[in-house]
Amino acid sequence: MSNLELRPAPAECGGRADVAARPVRELLPAKRVPLGESTVVRRLLPSLGRRMVGAWCFVDHYGPDDIAQEPGMQVPPHPHMGLQTVSWLHDGEVLHRDSLGSLQTLRPGRLGLMTAGSAIAHSEESPREHARLLHGAQLWVALPDAHRHTTPAWEHHAELPLVTGGGLRATVIMGELDGAASPATTFSPLVGADVTLPAGASARLPVRPDFEYAALTMSGEAEVDGVRLAPGSMLYLGCGRSELPLRTDVDSSFMLLGGEPFEEHIVMWWNFVGRSNDDIAQARSDWMKGSRFGEVKGYDGAPIPAPELPPVPLKPRGRVR
Ligand code: MN
Repeated sequence: MSNLELRPAPAECGGRADVAARPVRELLPAKRVPLGESTVVRRLLPSLGRRMVGAWCFVDHYGPDDIAQEPGMQVPPHPHMGLQTVSWLHDGEVLHRDSLGSLQTLRPGRLGLMTAGSAIAHSEESPREHARLLHGAQLWVALPDAHRHTTPAWEHHAELPLVTGGGLRATVIMGELDGAASPATTFSPLVGADVTLPAGASARLPVRPDFEYAALTMSGEAEVDGVRLAPGSMLYLGCGRSELPLRTDVDSSFMLLGGEPFEEHIVMWWNFVGRSNDDIAQARSDWMKGSRFGEVKGYDGAPIPAPELPPVPLKPRGRVR
């Protein structure tokens, strides 16, 4: 997925200043953002108050949308740098193409993981023949400085480990949870899991005190540490927990995102994560010249042009607006 905002705000993220070292319950509201012609997503990160949770730096939740009579998702070729994209579906399918030549139909319960590293381009579209409902999350993970120029790669994981107990079922998408490790490639200590709770379930999920966490509701209204979460909201939980109390009256699911607080400061603009204005300006210029990011073959449409850079150079600035 792409950040299609015409005037994307630069975000200076990272460091420990905004990390809650103790358990907190901070409800982050979603911002509704149009994506292409027919999709509206709820953006949970970056938000005004919080820009990262561990290395997770971008969180969009979309659907469930009835796209039976619609084209569905249509995101033309666009570039990425310095991050991984994590594509996760609850309903429907998305056809992924990238400049490495990958062609993959993503389906519920299977992970699409794209490591952009130094440069990659991709497109995402609902196939012409598609299911009625489209529902999923698109997440980005910032790469640490030591790995941000890594070789671009595409991974598809159909087999992911499960954590169960007290009625809870957690699919470990990225990193490790309660001793179960995802096969997906990661570059910093983090976790991403899809947690399902049937009506009446009550469980305590073991977590790490050195990680900060957030819970993104996908469906239902699970109570996470006593806070009832409706879809379209994310609960920031801070650090310092060894377990997370969960219960629900209705069938519910949420994504648990966490990680070691990301120490490095990054500059995030449009679809790029860099460390300086020059990094970002170079990437933008390379994309507009048609160099470095490669070509996405087979998508029926033109690539997305980069927005104009802000008039003032992107530079470190205070984390609180
Ligand atoms: Mn994308």
